[in-house]
Amino acid sequence: MSDLTLQDWVARAQSLTIEGRAFIDGAYVDAADGNTRPTQNPATGEVLAQVASCGPVDSDRAVASAKAVFEAGTWSNLAPAERKKVMVRWAELIEANAEELALLESLDVGKPISDTLNVDVPAAARTIRWSGEAIDKFYDQVAPTPHDTLALVTRLPLGVVAAIVPWNFPFSTTAWKIAPAIATGNSVVLKPASNTPLTALRVAGLAKEAGLPDGVLQVLPGPGGSLGSHLAKHMDVEGLTFTGSTPVGKMLMGYAGESNLKRTFLELGGKSPNIVFADANLEKAAAMAATAVFYNGGQTCTAGTRLLVQRSIHDEFMAKVIEHAQGWMPGNPLDPATSMGPMVDEAQYNTVAEYVRIGCDEGATLAFGGKRVEVTAGGYYHEPTIFTGANNQMRIAQEEIFGPVMTVIPFDTEAEAIAIANDSIFGLAGAVWSRDINVAHRVAKAVRVGTMGINNYFGGDMTVPFGGFKQSGNGRDKSMHAFDDYTELKTTWVEFD
Ligand code: NAP
Repeated sequence: MSDLTLQDWVARAQSLTIEGRAFIDGAYVDAADGNTRPTQNPATGEVLAQVASCGPVDSDRAVASAKAVFEAGTWSNLAPAERKKVMVRWAELIEANAEELALLESLDVGKPISDTLNVDVPAAARTIRWSGEAIDKFYDQVAPTPHDTLALVTRLPLGVVAAIVPWNFPFSTTAWKIAPAIATGNSVVLKPASNTPLTALRVAGLAKEAGLPDGVLQVLPGPGGSLGSHLAKHMDVEGLTFTGSTPVGKMLMGYAGESNLKRTFLELGGKSPNIVFADANLEKAAAMAATAVFYNGGQTCTAGTRLLVQRSIHDEFMAKVIEHAQGWMPGNPLDPATSMGPMVDEAQYNTVAEYVRIGCDEGATLAFGGKRVEVTAGGYYHEPTIFTGANNQMRIAQEEIFGPVMTVIPFDTEAEAIAIANDSIFGLAGAVWSRDINVAHRVAKAVRVGTMGINNYFGGDMTVPFGGFKQSGNGRDKSMHAFDDYTELKTTWVEFD
């Protein structure tokens, strides 16, 4: 916990030095053609910094450097215990610079400083430390083959991995990708989202300071359409790991198919069901129903945006949820008391406003919120918003809004709740609330999602895998399972004379 006040953070923001150059081959450099793009503070609309806008030339340079260091074995063949030491030092440096990183993330994304300081930055440090700590405890296998043979099943790094990440949790999703990829010996070229590149650029410098060899991690800010697609089609990139929207994920699968069939892992969108039965702990469920949607302004892939409520408690329960929604009115991200900041940019604000209009046109009842809020001049703040009286066919129930908009759908029976929950192209997360262990487990098993909470929302930790079913993606971030995405299995078969 920090005892810094709003005034302290504002003063620090004014004197912050921001690195906007790309990080290639161990050094901060301008884009080859000198192009830059501004990154904005969503709380004010003001330009924070000019950031290098890299293109194919920079990308080819970074991939060549990543490939050279991979083939030299400087990192890929380093003993796991030595890789661990570097990664643990890197995590320590992140912790030592936590306030600066939290401030950068807060300014760039509009996230509340209390979240970036207490959630995002510690989560990134933990991911890097955990992956480093795990790598020298990971054994390969000897298969149960006939007595005159020996079969080894070993894991080898892929080579050069391109990681493309979104703007909603820039630092923690970056860590989820780069930590297991680097721990397993790969070299990574990271493309952050164009509107939130700052923490990724800073953390690359910290990796070098920790002793990561040049070329093992490179960070190229630049447009998805040109730079991102060039990386995804690159013939020297063997692995592609992505977090972002489902439409872009589909394109990346196509690019991999068009080029070298690089291993492609996708963490995509969601429209997660949060199912509340009449016998649940309604106080806790109501508080979490609000948190599940309004945390991070609803710009969360796992947000519980479809609230399914058993009809017999609907009105009583929704009165409690609306009471909690009032605690999520947006505030200045640099105020430690703020729980929800602005939308990340004007385009995202406009998307949210458009879906509020669509929900009204579709005949849902606007039960709370729905309007712009003026917190700090020029900011993109939107009220926490609740639609009741919705059905699952409405666009506000089927499409990912990525804003603080809850769609409430009543149900009568367990079977109906499961059917509604599964009637979605997505399958990322969800939760069920009931005191009946049979109902809770039956529903948790039947809902086709990668992470399901029972009497909680947003449960999870570095020790468990995270990822989606259906069009929410493939592969898994976090835990030992993440190592599967960044390694090939090799069989070596020996016969004795
Ligand atoms: P997005 O538009 O898909 O962008 C994600 C990244 O892909 C950005 O770096 C973007 O670059 C890049 N990109 C865009 N077009 C590309 C192309 N043709 N080729 C290669 N790269 C391209 O997603 P977003 O709006 O940033 O993020 C929100 C989405 O992420 C939501 O759908 C959310 O659910 C999902 N998400 C999923 C998870 C999960 O773990 N499942 C976690 C967080 C977020 P630019 O920034 O330059 O456009």
